[in-house]
Amino acid sequence: MKTTLADVLIVGSGPIGATFARLLSEQVPEAKIIMVDLGPRLSKKSGQHIKNILDEKQREEAQIKSQGPHQEAYPLITVAERANAAQKGHLSLEMLARAGTHLVTDNLEDLAKNQMPAASLSSNLGGMGAHWTCACPRPGNAERIPFIPEEEHDKAFAKAEELLCVSQNTFADSPEGLAIMKILGGVFNEKLAPDRQVQRMPLACKTDENGGQYWVGSDVILGELAEAGSQSNFEIRSETLCRKLIHENGTITGAVLEHLPTGEQEEIKAKIVIVAADALRTPQLLWASGIRPRALGHYLNEHPFIFTFVELREDLVDTSVAKMYDKNNRTEPTIGVFWVPFDAPNHPFHGQIMHMDVSPLKIETHGNPKHIVGLGWGCLKESRYEDHIVFSEDKNDYLGMPKMNFKFSLTAKDKETIAEAMEIQSQAAAAFGKVIKEGEQTLMPPGTSLHYEGTTRMGEKNDGTSVCDSFSQVWEFDNLFVGGNGVIPVATTSNPTLTSVAMAVRACEKIVNKLKR
Ligand SMILES: Cc1cc2nc3c(=O)[nH]c(=O)nc-3n(C[C@H](O)[C@H](O)[C@H](O)COP(=O)(O)OP(=O)(O)OC[C@H]3O[C@@H](n4cnc5c(N)ncnc54)[C@H](O)[C@@H]3O)c2cc1C
Repeated sequence: MKTTLADVLIVGSGPIGATFARLLSEQVPEAKIIMVDLGPRLSKKSGQHIKNILDEKQREEAQIKSQGPHQEAYPLITVAERANAAQKGHLSLEMLARAGTHLVTDNLEDLAKNQMPAASLSSNLGGMGAHWTCACPRPGNAERIPFIPEEEHDKAFAKAEELLCVSQNTFADSPEGLAIMKILGGVFNEKLAPDRQVQRMPLACKTDENGGQYWVGSDVILGELAEAGSQSNFEIRSETLCRKLIHENGTITGAVLEHLPTGEQEEIKAKIVIVAADALRTPQLLWASGIRPRALGHYLNEHPFIFTFVELREDLVDTSVAKMYDKNNRTEPTIGVFWVPFDAPNHPFHGQIMHMDVSPLKIETHGNPKHIVGLGWGCLKESRYEDHIVFSEDKNDYLGMPKMNFKFSLTAKDKETIAEAMEIQSQAAAAFGKVIKEGEQTLMPPGTSLHYEGTTRMGEKNDGTSVCDSFSQVWEFDNLFVGGNGVIPVATTSNPTLTSVAMAVRACEKIVNKLKR
């Protein structure tokens, strides 16, 4: 097997892998960095968000390429079908799978035993970061990681917001948007702190050369590194699986890569190895490599997700405000994305008020999309050792990696929390006036959030309840780091990517010191 030397190997090219690549290459320019991803390249620029592909057919092709073993378009499911199926517990592959992703469990027999049936992955250069909604709310009080000093926490978040180009000005005001903010503000503002009032959702989105939206994917985070061949010390390889890490006495001495189209294998010997292969496949790779700390794959968490779809009444819209359309002339007028922040104890929930095109529910808009508003509410689920990924000892997935299944259930407290969230969301829906027939309140099946956390969680000390320290270095290893939503040790209600990018920023401080030593 060919052997290649490098300073840093990064496994996974999503937003978190991209953060490591950008910061390490800026701060240690002489370091040779190799980043690999098992998925194919979707665009010339590495890791571009597919929403920036304006041609609809090409966009759909990029989604399909990201769907791992499922290389065809999923059938179009209306909101009525999906919501009804979720409510009745009728789970089928068509009802669960979403464009640009593929289900972890893709056969009905296994699905029946899977307690997180909607758990999904994206397998492409740029990872889920090529498909995400780009919502980047800062976590609220009880969602913060308690053992990271406040000043360090805020510094890492500010850098993460800079890398992700987070802005609240992505969408211009529209009559519908103003009405939505007013309605939500009327219900919630009184109980929220002054800096956690109802507001536009902070989004990872830039303005392009036409003044239109340019959604942030790994390409934006990578900066110049995203242009192929622009930097000789940085190399990015698609369709390259990291099959195994080789280790001895707490040091990763090699990583076995496999180029999937040819089956050719190569060993990379790197000073530092970073696994940022999402919250499910990061622990999968460690597990496959015989690195199995007690907490690995455990404390699996996600926020339960409840949806209701409402119609904005005509009389609530101020038609004197000019309508704004996306400057790239996308097919629908933009409503925007709004935020009812988490603020415990008065609102220990996260409200995301969404535009439809990226909703997990495909909605029939009857030619009138601007009046349909999706209310998504996330709530806390208790973080428990019992909720975990089950890695098979003898069965493999489509790539020959240990097959995954899930033990994941709601506690009595979780059920109470969900009931409270439903009540709060009903109050919001009632203020809008009209719940649409196809969009009645639905608790979506586990896995729907796409925000899986805790599986490589960080901790204050190596006591068996965590996998890495607060700089993401795996306990008892001197050169192995992990990144992604799996490192988040607390239960959260909202979108985790900003936090994971911030934790990668923090990890880089320690890695830079090691590389410069
Ligand atoms: C439709 C959708 C909407 C979303 N909306 C939001 C949102 O609004 N806000 C938010 O915060 N989050 C959102 N998310 C989730 C968000 O995209 C993820 O949190 C984020 O992408 C995580 O980044 P990551 O780099 O850790 O993992 P990913 O982006 O998933 O990237 C991991 C990469 O690792 C690769 N990989 C895995 N195993 C291996 C291996 N063994 N060898 C080589 N490569 C490997 C995969 O192919 C993948 O490309 C959304 C996701 C989707 C799909």
